[in-house]
Amino acid sequence: MKEFTDLREAARWADRMRAAGLSLGLVPTMGALHAGHLALIRRARSECDRVAVSLFVNPAQFGPQEDLSMYPRTPAEDRAGCRDSGADCLFWGQPEGSGSVYPPGFQTWVEVDRLSKPLCGEFRPGHFRGVATVVSILLGAFKPHRAFFGQKDFQQARLIQRLALDLAKGAEVVIVPTVRDADGLALSSRNRYLSTEERQWALAIPRALAEAERRWEAGEDRPSELEKGVRAALAAEPRLVIQYARALDAENLQPAAVDRIAALPSGVVLAVAALAGKTRLIDNTWLK
Ligand code: AMP
Repeated sequence: MKEFTDLREAARWADRMRAAGLSLGLVPTMGALHAGHLALIRRARSECDRVAVSLFVNPAQFGPQEDLSMYPRTPAEDRAGCRDSGADCLFWGQPEGSGSVYPPGFQTWVEVDRLSKPLCGEFRPGHFRGVATVVSILLGAFKPHRAFFGQKDFQQARLIQRLALDLAKGAEVVIVPTVRDADGLALSSRNRYLSTEERQWALAIPRALAEAERRWEAGEDRPSELEKGVRAALAAEPRLVIQYARALDAENLQPAAVDRIAALPSGVVLAVAALAGKTRLIDNTWLK
């Protein structure tokens, strides 16, 4: 496994792979890897000749009140996880200095307009601008044939699909299903902040989403009803502070034009964000 800290050198590695006729997959992450990240790497491994993983805690996507300096960093475990999951290239992004992700004098930002407004966009101003910008830089440097993103961050994945299309990145953006712990909680680098108690509260989220899935499978096709059910299930855990619980058209993340999932080509995403203590959690289920 090749390792780089200089973006330009990593880009030259990617150039060589493509020049050799090999298909290239890219898995962008912020490190502190868990089984969800590794599932992306393995999926990339199964679909591409060469797999690059980027690890970069991107300052631009953290708000001033957020956990940038506290964000977990586990480089030794990350390296082992990447190697064991079949990565060929590991890129350790640097926030500044020579070879950094943002070159000195940086002043070009990418904004995905409508898709970045609802859901997390309302609660994390500037977050998606930071995400879209860094992913745009990474797609430009590696020029992968495919890039892999987790469904857990559904809005992010949709926004990047849009970005790849709008900015002619030429990469197919693949959305990989959410990996969960045995108790149902979606894996997240931030779960380690949860106390035992907070984790119990947090479990109301996967429970509410699983209940909605059951109702949908049993024939409830109205997003409005499923949204109501999710809200009611979450209300049963009052210690969880709900930021949003919405059923939206999975294509544009807007309220569905017709209240019938079967009538929507991309189906509906039921998306939740909540605070368990100080830890912000997101999760969703995609009904299609
Ligand atoms: P992060 O390091 O949190 O920015 O995540 C990097 C990538 O891993 C993103 O595409 C996430 O959507 C994805 N990811 C995070 N958690 C999970 C999970 N539990 N299952 C699948 N993918 C995930």
